[in-house]
Amino acid sequence: MSLYKETDIVIIGAGLTGLTLAHKLNQKKSDFIVLERDAKVGGVINTVERDGFIFETGPNTGVLGNEQVMDLFDDLSLLCKLEVAGDSVNKRYVLKDGKWEAMPTGLWKGITTPLFTFGDKLRILGEPFRSPGTNPNETLDQLVVRRMGKSFLQYAVDPFILGIYAGDPSYLVPKYALPKLYNLEQKYGSFIGGTIKMAKEKKKSGIKTRATRKIFSVEGGLGNLTKALHHSAGFEHFFTSVTNINVTPHENGFLIQGTYNNEDITIKSNKVVTTIGAHKIPMVLPFIDDSSLKSLSGLKYARVVQVSLGFRNWNGMKLDGFGGLIPHSENRDILGVLFPSAFLTGRTPEDGALLSVFMGGIRNDDIFDLSDNRIQTMVEKEIKDLMKLKAFNPDLFNISRYHHAIPQYGADSEARINAVDRIQNKYKGLFIAGNLRNGIGMADRIKQGFDLAEELIS
Ligand SMILES: Cc1cc2nc3c(=O)[nH]c(=O)nc-3n(C[C@H](O)[C@H](O)[C@H](O)COP(=O)(O)OP(=O)(O)OC[C@H]3O[C@@H](n4cnc5c(N)ncnc54)[C@H](O)[C@@H]3O)c2cc1C
Repeated sequence: MSLYKETDIVIIGAGLTGLTLAHKLNQKKSDFIVLERDAKVGGVINTVERDGFIFETGPNTGVLGNEQVMDLFDDLSLLCKLEVAGDSVNKRYVLKDGKWEAMPTGLWKGITTPLFTFGDKLRILGEPFRSPGTNPNETLDQLVVRRMGKSFLQYAVDPFILGIYAGDPSYLVPKYALPKLYNLEQKYGSFIGGTIKMAKEKKKSGIKTRATRKIFSVEGGLGNLTKALHHSAGFEHFFTSVTNINVTPHENGFLIQGTYNNEDITIKSNKVVTTIGAHKIPMVLPFIDDSSLKSLSGLKYARVVQVSLGFRNWNGMKLDGFGGLIPHSENRDILGVLFPSAFLTGRTPEDGALLSVFMGGIRNDDIFDLSDNRIQTMVEKEIKDLMKLKAFNPDLFNISRYHHAIPQYGADSEARINAVDRIQNKYKGLFIAGNLRNGIGMADRIKQGFDLAEELIS
């Protein structure tokens, strides 16, 4: 037996990108089908309820960083409830010489913090007067040392980059990995001067934006966002547990073949959108030329281990901020720890605490291959010490591993983006999306879903 269908658009992958796109297409009453390899939708977003704790095994929070995130929550207001963290999350800790220090939030705190050297504090004051860089492939460490100094790289940018990319500043290229920062220097000549000028320009233009740096989740966990998207995109458009998917150009469109319920499934469509990781592209789009495929599948990913810890009775240090990040130079076994129960509601039994510990990443990659027992021992040692716990007796201990967690936008990004353009120009109607381009955060994924829907409908 085999199944045959015809549709206008096929979306491959039902993570946040594919779901957002599907939701927007359904709003416009488009004719589309979503194919997902896993039994569930949501991709790396996954909320678990266990023993009175609600925890995330993938991303914990996003940033309301663009208008589309706000629009999405407006669209879904009857299906899930946005939860915006209070100002307490502005408090973030950075470990220096084994001691947590608050990351400075203003000029005075920047001058008095023990995180940066006296020389670099003076250097930061001179930042607006330094010439902009000319190398578009300059790495993040080079850019930061040039403008702000080494201690700023070590105790501000390095932990920040660990928190976002689980990455290495000497690999990431700001033009692609942190385009807003790169553009500040390119457009205004300085980070500090550019930030001030941009704020003035925004005020003068009178344009109001709802985008902020605020942290969001969803009541009951991010899994409720992906459930809401699934619902609003129309369950009838989805096929899950579809394996061996591959696409072939056919007439003026495409044939998409796979295995569904032990049967062959073939779909004829005018357009195809992939939202899968770069490493999966060669299997799904085997007709692409080798050189372009190499540019895509060469994208490096950080492998990340996330450990969720729940305590019914917390006896450690006060959890009064977003969490703590650990610079690589501190030489610890964990990258950082978030305090979700300190800024999100209903995640633990009363008086309980929930921690999310990150390990691995580009510079501690070997940790990914350690046994659960070994990881447990490392977490116990680090958390007991860092969180000042009298005894390590969590009521919840959960390990999740992501082999292709976070893509690293390095010097190969230009070639990858050019390859996407080349392929899309050659095969009209094929769109290569997902986090191999346009940003790695949830807000970026939502924006890409919105932009693609516009493009496909027009
Ligand atoms: C551990 C972790 C922590 C993170 N933390 C944060 C955070 O704090 N804040 C933030 O903003 N972002 C964070 N991110 C990043 C953010 O979660 C992701 O960028 C985003 O969720 C990715 O969505 P996506 O749809 O592009 O990809 P995915 O979620 O990877 O979805 C892709 C989908 O495609 C499917 N698929 C793959 N191959 C095939 C195939 N051959 N056929 C059919 N389907 C296929 C997959 O099963 C999956 O469902 C984190 C990511 C990870 C892994």
